Amino acid sequence: MIRQFELVERVKRYDPQADEDALNRGYVFAMRAHGAQTRANGDPYFSHPLEVAGILTHYRLDTASIVTALLHDTVEDTHATIEDIKRMFGEEVARLVDGVTKLTRIELQSEHTRQAENFRKLVLAMSEDIRVLLVKLADRLHNMRTLKFLNDHEKRRRIASETMEIYAPLAERMGMQEMKNELEDLAFAELNAHARESIIARLAFLREHGGNLIPRIIEHIRQTLRSNELDSEVVGREKTPYSIWQKMQHKNLNFEQLCDIMAFRVIVPTQEDCYRGLGIVHSAYPVIPGRFKDYISTPKPNGYRSLHTGVFGPERQRIEVQIRTREMHEIAEYGVAAHWHYKQESDHTNGRQYRWLRELLEILEHTGGAEEFLEHTKLEMFQDEVFCFTPKGDLINLPTGSTPVDFAYAVHSEIGDKCVGAKINGRLMPLRTVLQNGDQIEIITSKAQTPSPTWERFVVTGKARARIRRFIRSKERDQYLQLGRSILERAFQQEGYDCSDKALEGVLKNFKQPTTDDLYAQVGAGHLTGRAVVEVVLPGLRKKRSFVEKVVPLGRSRRKSQVKGPGIPIRGLIPGMALHFAGCCHPLPGDRIVGVVTTGKGVTIHTIDCETLEEFAGQPERWIDVSWDTGENGETTHVGRVQVTVLNEPGSLGALTTVIARNAGNITNLKITNRTMQFFEILVDIEVRDVAHLTDIIAALRVTQSVNAADRARR
Ligand code: MN
Repeated sequence: MIRQFELVERVKRYDPQADEDALNRGYVFAMRAHGAQTRANGDPYFSHPLEVAGILTHYRLDTASIVTALLHDTVEDTHATIEDIKRMFGEEVARLVDGVTKLTRIELQSEHTRQAENFRKLVLAMSEDIRVLLVKLADRLHNMRTLKFLNDHEKRRRIASETMEIYAPLAERMGMQEMKNELEDLAFAELNAHARESIIARLAFLREHGGNLIPRIIEHIRQTLRSNELDSEVVGREKTPYSIWQKMQHKNLNFEQLCDIMAFRVIVPTQEDCYRGLGIVHSAYPVIPGRFKDYISTPKPNGYRSLHTGVFGPERQRIEVQIRTREMHEIAEYGVAAHWHYKQESDHTNGRQYRWLRELLEILEHTGGAEEFLEHTKLEMFQDEVFCFTPKGDLINLPTGSTPVDFAYAVHSEIGDKCVGAKINGRLMPLRTVLQNGDQIEIITSKAQTPSPTWERFVVTGKARARIRRFIRSKERDQYLQLGRSILERAFQQEGYDCSDKALEGVLKNFKQPTTDDLYAQVGAGHLTGRAVVEVVLPGLRKKRSFVEKVVPLGRSRRKSQVKGPGIPIRGLIPGMALHFAGCCHPLPGDRIVGVVTTGKGVTIHTIDCETLEEFAGQPERWIDVSWDTGENGETTHVGRVQVTVLNEPGSLGALTTVIARNAGNITNLKITNRTMQFFEILVDIEVRDVAHLTDIIAALRVTQSVNAADRARR
């Protein structure tokens, strides 16, 4: 176990300004908090956070990270609280410890999770500070190093596959090659011990039969470079069993064909030396074609830079040679962790020599979409998303602000349609609740439920919104369909016929409707009148004039379409548009008129002086210029409305109807609106040819003895 002063010394060695007091207090706090707890191997529990802190000193992290490592399990596993930590170590450390604790809880929940990429995103999203992730990676590395002490076989496998799928790729994403290799190899040992052992045995065999190959090759390369006056440091190693295994799987090669069993690293002073070194290697050893890669001119997205080549080495074995500068080497090994080292150093230097660190961070934050990167890298990017679990532990990612309804639709459209409630982390919560990272959602469904229009106000996903809208539209259509059916039934009954689908099918083309249901819906929505349909089915009816129908499909369409209305010609309409005469002003041919577009209802014709038009004053786009087409068809009739005040005396109503009849008007409706001792006020609807006809009738009324006043009704 690392002793207290050793830890402090290690940190001080790379960071002379480190807060020694905080490190000491962190050490003591964690030791006391974990007390007599022990690990699976019988060690005191405290040895674990201490080792995690030790791993992070290797990455030269700042004091806050090291203290966080010491404290990282205290909130989850001891009586200590975040408030205690905030009080004793301040806001920054408390925030970091809280971040690591949250990640640990996610880990506990995720046993059945198979969606590795989503889970990696979740981990990134929850690591608002990249140091949270670095502490978590070190925590996982130490747990993997001590994995063999766990007795629970299932648990060991779960931790190992999670490491392989989640944490090793995250380490790689952070540019931490060394961490990634060790995590993978430890996981490989658990997951496929047999394969690993045979690779190790094979390597041992080759080592034995090839003599002490690696040191001999190192020496040969070093001599070759030196004789060309290039200073270098050469190291060589066998590749890890896991990376050999992976290459054998992916490239379908056998052991002897692999270049990558031995890798040699040449470290030179400058970038120019890298290319010089490459030239020397290529002229000294036969080159294996297709193996050269220049990651200096084109760095990997995680910031990795190096030259790679494959050659037949001094003893004719296939070897890989990587050539890089010291700086490039540091990026390769420490990745993003080097950033914290840089922050400390920048006080003493102008920071120029650490430009690669800034570049690495920039690459990490602004992913260029290169293939090696899992498709998203920028940490902030995941702040737009929220990750939630199904009861089975599957991860669903949604946009920030999503609700249980969004979640339900994301799981399955049917579940969305039928959802009546939601349990969030076991508690029943309103459907409009905004979901948080890591929430576990259980959707409660009911067969009787249908999407509610109110959901549309709070859902944020396109899928949920589209489903809800579609449902509302189809519900509206159902209503229109039923309404249209009863309108048509009545219209046919008035003429003494039954409304049959068969009769309607014959005229579908006339109305450009694919099915009879569509035709019903058109009638129900007011796009077509029942009368218009009846007249097409029964063309003989058009001669009759006895109906009072305010809605007529019309306009220029009369010439083009086969729809024949009763022939009230209006100019200026789009063919096929449904037409209504306003009930407020009862426009008549000869009146100056204007059309107003009403969605779902077509055009309503008003007289130009109608008061109702004020309502549409602010919507000029709804106004249509129309005029009467009086050139033909003098037989049509329209309903005009007249307000008449007659004396309250016997015979006055008789006089009224007589005058109207004498002037060829036909009363279609009559309503007494006010009755006093002296007068009746009456609204009379009269069928007339046009406005001149109505004006004649009004004049005749005015001269009648018992009529006190007569005027066009404007309302
Ligand atoms: Mn831990």
